[in-house]
Amino acid sequence: MTDINFNNISVDILTVPLFIEKGVEISVLRLDKIHPLISGNKWFKLRYYLEEAKQQNKKTIVTFGGAWSNHILATAAACKMNGFNGIGIIRGEKPANLSPTLLQSQAEGMQLVFTSRDDYRKKKIPAELDNDNNYFINEGGFGNSGAAGAATILNYCDLNKFDKIGCACGTGTMIAGLIRATIPSQQVIGISMLKNNFDLEKSVQLLLNNVEGNYQLIHDYHFGGYAKYKSELIDFMNMFYLQTGIPSDFVYTGKLFYAFYQLVKNNSFIPGCRILLIHSGGLTGNSSLEKGMLIF
Ligand SMILES: *Cc1c(COP(=O)(O)O)cnc(C)c1O
Repeated sequence: MTDINFNNISVDILTVPLFIEKGVEISVLRLDKIHPLISGNKWFKLRYYLEEAKQQNKKTIVTFGGAWSNHILATAAACKMNGFNGIGIIRGEKPANLSPTLLQSQAEGMQLVFTSRDDYRKKKIPAELDNDNNYFINEGGFGNSGAAGAATILNYCDLNKFDKIGCACGTGTMIAGLIRATIPSQQVIGISMLKNNFDLEKSVQLLLNNVEGNYQLIHDYHFGGYAKYKSELIDFMNMFYLQTGIPSDFVYTGKLFYAFYQLVKNNSFIPGCRILLIHSGGLTGNSSLEKGMLIF
């Protein structure tokens, strides 16, 4: 098992003709390079939960996710690395063929427990797991400790160099942490990956303990919904890789980078604006695409 490799994190300045033409400087914080499985933001969101579980002498960590959940895979690998038993409560009945994400999670030693979509929605914990020996982490690492961990993402760049921070949003845990870590003059822009998830605002506000933050959530770049895509997105991801050498995933970061190309095109930023985009990882998710669609 490889360790988390923080030395790999870099801040890459993009030399894209469009950005140069518009006078906007865009950099990417490469969290995707820290580990092949505990990718990107997931380790940061998990770190304080893992510490807490250790302090409480728990042996087993239980968490929740769908068949394609990066959080499930990251938790599986983090449990193995830290000597915990990992259990994943997975949404839906057990399919005939497990997704690559679930197969990999199993290979990392995670035990998978499948529940009906109805029970999953109600966050029902199967009776055999519902006891004090287990440490529970919400779906996606949502919660205060998750946001506190995500706040430490920005320790890996020189924050003063940026006017805006951009990131992809699922549960809103990462963006809440980023908002907590920035100064009031910096704006954090979140691109929601779910269709019409207007509850995201409430989730973020909850994690900010209702302290006001300078942020904006944009709901226009989900490409039809969570983990949905169109050939336009895949073409963009290939073009982005050719232009920058940076691989992206079709569920989160591909849509994030696409969104910022559009925002720059539409003159959303004044010349001189310096933007940091968080590459939150997620590249393992591309394994669900047909081989050959992506050039990386
Ligand atoms: C999980 C994930 C996100 C979303 O993070 P939230 O804290 O749930 O908003 C963003 N990008 C990638 C690559 C992810 O795997």
